[in-house]
Amino acid sequence: MSNINDKPSEVWIKENHPENGLFRVYWKDIIDNYDGGATLDLDEGEGLRYEWYYKDGERADGPSYAWWPSGNIKQIRSYKDGKCDGLWIDWHDNGQKSSEKTYKDDKYDGLFTRWFENGQKKSEGTYKDAEKIKETFWYENGQEIPIFRKIDIETHSYCNRTCDFCSDYIYPRQFMKEMDKGVFSKIIDELVELGYDRYIFLFRYNEPLSNLPNINRCAAEVRKKLPKVKIGINTNGDYYRKGGRDGTEMADMIQKDIDADYLTIMDYDDKFEEFWDEDEDGGVRMMKFDSIGNMCDRGGTLKGKGYFDDPYNTDELRTEACYEPERVLAIDYLGNITFCCNFRIENPAHKDFIFGNIEDISIVEAYNRATEFRESVAKSIFPDPCKYCQMKPGRFSRDNPSIGNNMETYE
Ligand code: SF4
Ligand code: SF4
Repeated sequence: MSNINDKPSEVWIKENHPENGLFRVYWKDIIDNYDGGATLDLDEGEGLRYEWYYKDGERADGPSYAWWPSGNIKQIRSYKDGKCDGLWIDWHDNGQKSSEKTYKDDKYDGLFTRWFENGQKKSEGTYKDAEKIKETFWYENGQEIPIFRKIDIETHSYCNRTCDFCSDYIYPRQFMKEMDKGVFSKIIDELVELGYDRYIFLFRYNEPLSNLPNINRCAAEVRKKLPKVKIGINTNGDYYRKGGRDGTEMADMIQKDIDADYLTIMDYDDKFEEFWDEDEDGGVRMMKFDSIGNMCDRGGTLKGKGYFDDPYNTDELRTEACYEPERVLAIDYLGNITFCCNFRIENPAHKDFIFGNIEDISIVEAYNRATEFRESVAKSIFPDPCKYCQMKPGRFSRDNPSIGNNMETYE
């Protein structure tokens, strides 16, 4: 925000603009690009700072201009009926454009772009009906910055079950191997560098609560280094089932034991009398098996097997574009990186969709390796494992998706 004569510029402008006619303001006693004095008197001035018209106390229809102290153009704004309307362009002091966007009736509309001072694009996105539907970001060197909405980290390998709708049915995980502490820290440190501030789910094809010291250590590191991130845990509840506890008691006990913002207890066996959806303050939900929603054969791993046994329903196969690899990062307990929750290192058909190991490459490098795949599924051109995918648009595959099992809709 800029200042004029020790006041925020909007305040000074409000106090000094005419009811009608030309408003022309000159720089005076310049401190820096954003601070200093101003005058309405040409003879006192040190170059034009603002110029636009007023009509009945509102900005008149048409452009408004602002200049840097250097004399270079800083902004062109467009107004109609006292509202932002039309093209708004900003420039850096070196003459490079810094942003361009369009307003319609006081709201963002259509494409918007921002640039660094070196001319490199900083971000580009689109607004539709005043809602941002997409934005891509780049570093100053042109490197695209991944904007994951959800990150799954498998902090250890073990699951006590082999559910027939899970790829653990084919590749059981009844052994305990913890993710290396250094590997976990490397992931979190990279996310700190990327400024990640959304959701981390501390589970994948494992049962997180089978190893409380592990999950608590990892959650504590996330809390410490990424304080804005929300932590999610999904559990089969087996480690808290004893003694005929109902769902409420179980949720209370789990919440005492772990520090998570979202907890989902899967009632796969339909054992709990009580069923509830997300509770308002604690983010706790219990899901019964039949309310899970779109079942998916995990990128073909379960095609014709387990829950997806004969007759295999090919009517359900995905036809719509997929944005999962743009929005999801998944790292298994060995550090293997992929961008879809379905892919696993154990399945030979998925090997081309494991884009490296965090011990060898960075998340951004893996993301770059996945560019062709990401762009392809976003255009509904599906490689083999995706050809069997029944994951319906909705989770990460529409403009305003939800995380988890429709847990929350968010941008
Ligand atoms: S409990 Fe969860 S991770 Fe374990 S086999 Fe079942 S669905 Fe898979
Ligand atoms: S189409 Fe299915 S398997 Fe392929 S990336 Fe998307 S969600 Fe994953």
